[in-house]
Amino acid sequence: MTTSFGEERLLIDGALVPASTGAVFETVNPATEEVLGVAADATDGDAERAIDAARRAFDSTTWSTDVALRVRCLRQMQAAMRSHADELRAMTIAETGSPVFMTRSAQLDDPVESLGWVADLAEGYAWTTDLGRAEPLGMPARRWVCREPAGVVAAITPWNVPHQINLAKLGPALAAGNTVILKPAPDTPWCATVLGRMIAEETDIPAGVVNILASSEPAFGARLVSDPRVDQVSFTGSTATGRTVMAQAAGTLKRVFLELGGKSAFVVLDDADLRGACGVAAFTVCVHAGQGCAITTRLVVPRRHFDDAVDGAAAALAKLPAGDPTDPGTICGPLINARQRDRVERYIRLARDEGGTIVVGGGRPAEQTRGFFVEPTLVTGIGNDSPVAREEIFGPVLVVIPHDGDDDALSIANDSPYGLSGSVWSGDRDRAMAVARRMRTGTVGVNGGVWYSPDVPFGGYKQSGIGREMGVAGFEEYLETKVVAEPA
Ligand code: NAD
Repeated sequence: MTTSFGEERLLIDGALVPASTGAVFETVNPATEEVLGVAADATDGDAERAIDAARRAFDSTTWSTDVALRVRCLRQMQAAMRSHADELRAMTIAETGSPVFMTRSAQLDDPVESLGWVADLAEGYAWTTDLGRAEPLGMPARRWVCREPAGVVAAITPWNVPHQINLAKLGPALAAGNTVILKPAPDTPWCATVLGRMIAEETDIPAGVVNILASSEPAFGARLVSDPRVDQVSFTGSTATGRTVMAQAAGTLKRVFLELGGKSAFVVLDDADLRGACGVAAFTVCVHAGQGCAITTRLVVPRRHFDDAVDGAAAALAKLPAGDPTDPGTICGPLINARQRDRVERYIRLARDEGGTIVVGGGRPAEQTRGFFVEPTLVTGIGNDSPVAREEIFGPVLVVIPHDGDDDALSIANDSPYGLSGSVWSGDRDRAMAVARRMRTGTVGVNGGVWYSPDVPFGGYKQSGIGREMGVAGFEEYLETKVVAEPA
């Protein structure tokens, strides 16, 4: 599989350019530790030019008002990505370490398809609503509610599902009429810069409407967040960074939209198909090596079936296909980098130090001599109050916690600083629905129900975020509301 497909250049004001200093940084294959190539390392001057260009494109072109142009450009973007699907797939697997099976869904193909959904939405959207005539303050008036783009959007994204998140921001933000500066994570610059090349070479998106600034410096985006010319920040990443971004944005009182971390519960009630459910829980925590914000990482099972549940999850984990992400059968690939592997190993050590039992895994796979791999790992014997059960590990680590009935299961599920997702399993659909409705999370799957789709608003309660991505709600995050009235 070729890994030569990449893009070194930034996209600034419609041009594919090197960094102003010529500086570059390496992008690395996490499965092999090989350097794939380099990306331009944006400078302060590059950020300045990108912000200027985005501001000018918003203020003085027809982009913000020409819905037909925007719809056409989004469809061109989708067509370009579709026509480069093979190169994009190879590059994405190489840069993210994501298993090939995942690129057939959330890692690549689904986000590309969702561009069509958002283009259709913009095309048919009710940009103006006529509220009709009324007599506010005794004075007859006719009123309209107009939805308008927010302005210049700074989009800051993580490395775990880069196309999904880059496009879930770019698609709706552009469809709504904004201009965008996209700052990807330092680990996955190419997933953004190749998109920049397609935008520059294969779409009519006007200069300045999309700018892409790769950087080796994690906090590079702070320049965008604090700049008064930027109207809105759309951030996806960890809760800790989300907090910093929100504080950085406070100085200029920006609209801030945050998609953050999670520690979601997989609740099995006492009438569920226990082994089946535990098998699904084991599979889920290993997808992309557990590097997904909405992955259910706490398996909450009936105390009297605890041993059976652990056996079921252990059996599934032990035979789960792990290793080379280019193998179509692989479910669990590598972690993104050595730092992330250290973090996962630190939590596994902590589980042991706290008296927990590592039932399966806990180490590095013997057969992988290169790459940032950790074995699928099952932990028991720690409480829901342990940092191992409370903090986001972002690795293939499943913690099993016993419950004493539906209310207890719910209080364990909800006893978390996060509220991103969840799962409930029961033989009684109404009982499962009742538990799902009481979960304090943004999404819940009942008996394996899949919620992920372009029309579904995704986001978190509590410290998992503010706002929603995707769906109509996700599109409207990028809109202002204006009311116009005239005497009637
Ligand atoms: P991160 O918070 O370290 O980084 C996210 C982005 O913020 C990157 O582009 C990074 O360069 C940038 N950044 C880092 N420090 C910054 C600062 N001080 N100012 C401005 N920008 C800064 O997260 P990560 O490690 O890249 O990604 C993993 C995290 O993302 C996990 O916590 C995961 O749950 C979360 N995530 C959430 C969702 C969601 O939709 N809720 C989706 C995917 C990932």
